[in-house]
Amino acid sequence: MLNNDGTPKKIVIVGGGTAGWMAANLLACKWKNTDICLVESKEIGIIGVGEGSTPHLKLFFDALDIMDSEWMPHCNATYKNGITFDKWSTNKGFESYFHPFAAQTDDVFTVPLFYKNIQARMQGYNVDAHPDKYFLESYLSKNNLGPLPAESFPFGVAYGYHFDSALLGQFLAEKAENLGVKRIYGHVANVIVKNDGKLSAVKLKDGTALEADFFIDCSGFNSLLMQKALKVNFKSFKDNLLNDAAVVMPSEISQVLPVETKSTALSNGWAWQIPLRNRFGNGYVYSSDYINSDQAETELRQHLGLLDCDIEAKHLKMKVGRVEKHWHKNCLAVGLSQGFIEPLEATALGLTFNTISQFIQCFEEGKGTNKFEDVFNKEINDKFDGIRDYVVCHYKVNQRTDSDYWRDNAANNNISESLNRIITLWNNSQDFIGDMYKYKLSGSYHPKSWACLLAGYGVFPKNITTQSVDYSAHQQELEALSDFIRRCALNFKDHSKLLTV
Ligand SMILES: Cc1cc2nc3c(=O)[nH]c(=O)nc-3n(C[C@H](O)[C@H](O)[C@H](O)COP(=O)(O)OP(=O)(O)OC[C@H]3O[C@@H](n4cnc5c(N)ncnc54)[C@H](O)[C@@H]3O)c2cc1C
Repeated sequence: MLNNDGTPKKIVIVGGGTAGWMAANLLACKWKNTDICLVESKEIGIIGVGEGSTPHLKLFFDALDIMDSEWMPHCNATYKNGITFDKWSTNKGFESYFHPFAAQTDDVFTVPLFYKNIQARMQGYNVDAHPDKYFLESYLSKNNLGPLPAESFPFGVAYGYHFDSALLGQFLAEKAENLGVKRIYGHVANVIVKNDGKLSAVKLKDGTALEADFFIDCSGFNSLLMQKALKVNFKSFKDNLLNDAAVVMPSEISQVLPVETKSTALSNGWAWQIPLRNRFGNGYVYSSDYINSDQAETELRQHLGLLDCDIEAKHLKMKVGRVEKHWHKNCLAVGLSQGFIEPLEATALGLTFNTISQFIQCFEEGKGTNKFEDVFNKEINDKFDGIRDYVVCHYKVNQRTDSDYWRDNAANNNISESLNRIITLWNNSQDFIGDMYKYKLSGSYHPKSWACLLAGYGVFPKNITTQSVDYSAHQQELEALSDFIRRCALNFKDHSKLLTV
């Protein structure tokens, strides 16, 4: 049943993880006439990881009119300028690179030289094409400067966050309750599906039935409503994303607070290091086909220098892929229940935000009908697949040869047609960026990000030609850019100082 304004009269959200509370807030803010109730199970709890974001989290807080200064201190949150990828490449000079977020306005001044020089390098000229030289965000990160410029500075810098996921959940729960969302603790034991295939109620262990006109499935990897009750198919990404497990543990925060996530390649996967105000969050994401959980834990402890330490580690399994339909009948799946691409680019909460906000728009435009269900599902599937391609590209072009895991990833030809075309373009095009636009291949990532990844790993022809190039002109251009970046950076504050404001 719908209200006069076309919104559902009653919504039940199953699941009180970050996805459930993000959905509750956005829906309660937008649909003021809807009665919203969220049910969560104390028995199961939340996954309790997921502590890095893309700039989408800022869009989420902007939509709720919540300032950084309001939520960040509650969640021990810090700023994130981007991600450093360490040891994914063994190419000399390219052992590490920084991936800034796209869409900074200062790119207009810095990116053209980067594009010019990667193209020259592809043609065999020995010019400096390492991405770190070309972006303000790399400089800010190396110097522990936060992403908020002085008011007089004309360029914005896109940024994400690091945060304590449990505290973020608590903060959002309180906000949602203040907006009128009813919170219920209960364990959903049964989901009632009507003859027309729609959901009518969820039944709790204690016998309570929660009826609604629309349901949001935020039940995590359980996917109780979408996959279990409505039997929507799950498309696994296992054939090109091999990682299926993670081991997680905290460590002591450093004196100087980094402004970036660090992703370090280990023997059979990679480890993240996420700086919060009070601790580092660490995790090793690996494939259980290559290493077992004990070996992974030992390797993570070694990597962190915590071999003899009794800090407890938490082991997790990951189901990597996505549902074929995110909106089906009177149900929307959000968060891990709709799918998960492994956390290398920290994209899950961004996808969560996109899913809820695009659903609200499609539902409103369809005046409460399922008119735009197919369009919506295609858009969200494209977003998932686009991100998957970008993450797969990291593995496909990795430059390590020290284990079967890395060799198998590089040799894996189960990649999408569009990723195949991007890699082919990189190796053959005279104008990689122009062709990315021309053939509409970027997917969920800006051409700059694709160029950063491929150049960052030093995926260039091995034989540098002796073709003459005016190196003094090249050097001058690069020096002028470095100077420009250094002067821009004078407008940015030390990360720790930014957090005390
Ligand atoms: C190793 C790892 C690293 C990650 N890193 C990142 C990252 O850096 N950035 C990022 O954006 N994301 C990351 N993610 C993803 C992120 O953790 C999730 O997207 C986010 O926490 C949201 O999870 P959720 O709310 O969908 O599920 P959960 O947190 O699992 O919540 C599920 C909810 O459903 C409830 N529930 C389940 N079954 C029932 C039932 N029968 N009855 C009642 N309630 C029930 C549970 O009690 C819980 O409240 C990572 C994930 C993993 C596995």
